[in-house]
Amino acid sequence: MIEEIQILNNKSAAQKPRAVEISETTNGFNVYIETYGCQMNVNDSEIVAGILAQSGFGITDKIDNSNVILLNTCSVRDNAEAKIFKRLEQLRFYRKQNSKLLVGILGCMAERLRGKLVGHQDLVSIVVGPDEYRKVPEMIEQSMNGEVGIAVKLSRVETYDDIIPLRTQGISAWLSIIRGCDKFCTYCVVPYTRGRERSKPFPVVIKELIDLYELGYKEVTLLGQNVNSYIDMENKVDFAKLLVECAKAVPSMRIRYTTSHPYDMTDELIEAMASHHNICNYIHLPVQSGSDRILQMMNRHYTVEHYLDRMRKIKELIPNCSLSTDIITGFPTETEDDHKATMDLMAEVRYDGAYMFNYSPRSKTKAYMMEDDVTPDVKGRRLTEIIEQQNKISRELNEAEHGLIHEVLIEGTSKKNKNEWQGRTDTNKVVIFDNYEQNYKIGQTITCKITRSTSGTLFGDVV
Ligand code: SF4
Repeated sequence: MIEEIQILNNKSAAQKPRAVEISETTNGFNVYIETYGCQMNVNDSEIVAGILAQSGFGITDKIDNSNVILLNTCSVRDNAEAKIFKRLEQLRFYRKQNSKLLVGILGCMAERLRGKLVGHQDLVSIVVGPDEYRKVPEMIEQSMNGEVGIAVKLSRVETYDDIIPLRTQGISAWLSIIRGCDKFCTYCVVPYTRGRERSKPFPVVIKELIDLYELGYKEVTLLGQNVNSYIDMENKVDFAKLLVECAKAVPSMRIRYTTSHPYDMTDELIEAMASHHNICNYIHLPVQSGSDRILQMMNRHYTVEHYLDRMRKIKELIPNCSLSTDIITGFPTETEDDHKATMDLMAEVRYDGAYMFNYSPRSKTKAYMMEDDVTPDVKGRRLTEIIEQQNKISRELNEAEHGLIHEVLIEGTSKKNKNEWQGRTDTNKVVIFDNYEQNYKIGQTITCKITRSTSGTLFGDVV
């Protein structure tokens, strides 16, 4: 599962709403798309922008220039939805300035709340789920004639494989290879909001990848709720084979992927990573809990022993691989012993970073029927303990990097100091260079020696 939550060591991840870049209008509509939540949503907004641009709609990154505002939403936690309702309040201001302004809700929240959103505060006139984005242009036109539209049917086949996403300019691109999820973890809304798994055909993935390379992108992340389940039956390509073929197709591009499920983390996949230099040495493998009893209640399909066995295999074949995970604390019936088991697992694996958050019940899930019996105080205390332990481990692992040399892909100037550059190692760690040099370019790879660090950032000198 890919989520917008607390993260260590990857602070550029999906934290704030983002707008898609510009394309000119030929039909008078200028659409501003604001994206919330996970990387799948970022890529979906690019797909929606691609569909709209093909039909003559303009895409703007300035809300003041728009006459259509689309919010691409996340449902994974309560506060993600609360954020959207708050945003809708703010959008009333824009409606006051322009009575013809159209507001639409896309994504998981559209799928989950459906009719409840239509007409919300007399503001929302289109509601479109993740598998119905092809209808957005038509629905915008209809709603300008006063109609209110809702399209939330889930599909078993839609992969948008013929749509060219209108990507945000940059050096890194998301490439969605699989949509939906069949795992049905008991706490998760994704199988209900994004439907069942379906993979993009292998030749389409390779073509999209080569197109990205030719457009000048330096790094691509293969994307899906569970990429390890990728399968193209016709071409007999599973995820390990896909990864190898991607690495061979664009040998000078960095290839990443997210997110993985421990049940499907095969030896072949780990071997594929170990044997191709351009597949980045970074794995995000959500564990969620260190207690077998809780994992079973979560319907995670693996035991702690299986998970640790996967970790041993990764460390054996890719010794310098950086690791991160997701942890849910305070799942129904979680005891102090279960919590301690999670702390012990984290101490044993020693992740470079983690997304850690309190359990939040979501209606329509199986866990919603379980009593949410861990009190907010206990959840809060356990979460603090987990975060503190993770911070300590991240700090220690980053200190162990001092003196090491890394290839760093330059992403831009440092957010805190315009006189410094910021880049990323293939292990997904952010590096700030101490010695500023005007001639460097975004997208260039340089070699850095790490000189100091915090728990979330490395600092280095170009060598
Ligand atoms: S059901 Fe499980 S594996 Fe699928 S997206 Fe949700 S948490 Fe991830």
